[in-house]
Amino acid sequence: MERVLVTGVAGFIGSHLAEGLLRRGMAVTGVDSRSPASDPGAAENLAGLVGRDDFHLVVADLVTADLTPLLEDVPVVFHLAAMAGVRRSWGDRFADYLACNVIATQRLLEACVAAEVPRLVAASSSSVYGHASTGPSREDDPLAPASPYGVTKLASERLCAAYATRRQASTSVVALRYFTVYGPRQRPDMAISRILRAAMSGRGVPLYGDGRQRRDFTYVSDAVAATVAAATADTQMAVVNVGSGRSTTLKEVLDLVAVITGGAVPVLHRLDQPGDVEVTAADLTRVRELLGYQPSTDLAAGLRQQWTWLTSQRHGYAPLTADVAAR
Ligand code: NAD
Repeated sequence: MERVLVTGVAGFIGSHLAEGLLRRGMAVTGVDSRSPASDPGAAENLAGLVGRDDFHLVVADLVTADLTPLLEDVPVVFHLAAMAGVRRSWGDRFADYLACNVIATQRLLEACVAAEVPRLVAASSSSVYGHASTGPSREDDPLAPASPYGVTKLASERLCAAYATRRQASTSVVALRYFTVYGPRQRPDMAISRILRAAMSGRGVPLYGDGRQRRDFTYVSDAVAATVAAATADTQMAVVNVGSGRSTTLKEVLDLVAVITGGAVPVLHRLDQPGDVEVTAADLTRVRELLGYQPSTDLAAGLRQQWTWLTSQRHGYAPLTADVAAR
């Protein structure tokens, strides 16, 4: 059985990816700096993985750990570990973003090249586009990240390209620019997660700006399908968008949630936040060609899945911690 490595496995997308890889018959070593023993969010994400024979968890920080032993005979590394989230990347936390998103990626690339790992699949982000695009973003559009987070994701992506295009590079790379991924276990700081929790609690959800910001929302199983396909794509270095190909306003999301949950979601109007862009929209031409990608879950169906998951949680809804609420 082939054993692949997933970084950021205790996270939202990483844990879904690991489950998807196991379903496809692979064995997975997952690495994350968060331990399920001390972090309830990590424990929740890893609940379907820990204890399985075909899954092995390594709790380690990619910024400092010796990565060589993790890479022995590994055909593919899926690199999803990062500090995610735009708003927290302003201010004092930037050093953490730099370490986890840039230094960790560079260390992993060095180790992959030394171990001759054939393929690295790296999570990038739609935030590398910033305010630059007006219509659907194409991969070769100008890039102008509007937040420190976006800058670190672009640096990470560019590091991948530098390593993969070196003469006689042993490691090829596919970087995936994910567009707002949602679904069960979505990070609690993200908009859909907050809206659904507000619908459950009856407490207001902060709405930044006028609600007319548009986002391309990608259901997590579609993101996983693209990520798995990237492991075998025929390329030395490629960057592709992973989105739904449809852009929806937050106001429309609130309306859909009202239908699904049977009541309007109370909204607390707030000024828009630095780093939030007006529109994200993915042009899917390249990802269709390279990965045969075809998103299959529309927003109404995906929201319903996330709502069903949230309402089935053992302890009812998980209230936001003070830390998350402040983001
Ligand atoms: P997440 O925060 O749920 O998961 C990231 C995981 O990486 C966390 O469990 C964290 O502990 C781990 N991690 C961070 N730094 C680490 C380090 N130094 N060593 C080891 N582990 C470390 O985030 P997510 O939403 O699942 O995002 C996964 C990836 O996709 C990230 O690279 C993110 O930038 C990217 N992305 C996500 C979205 C989205 O909508 N969720 C959109 C665009 C890009």
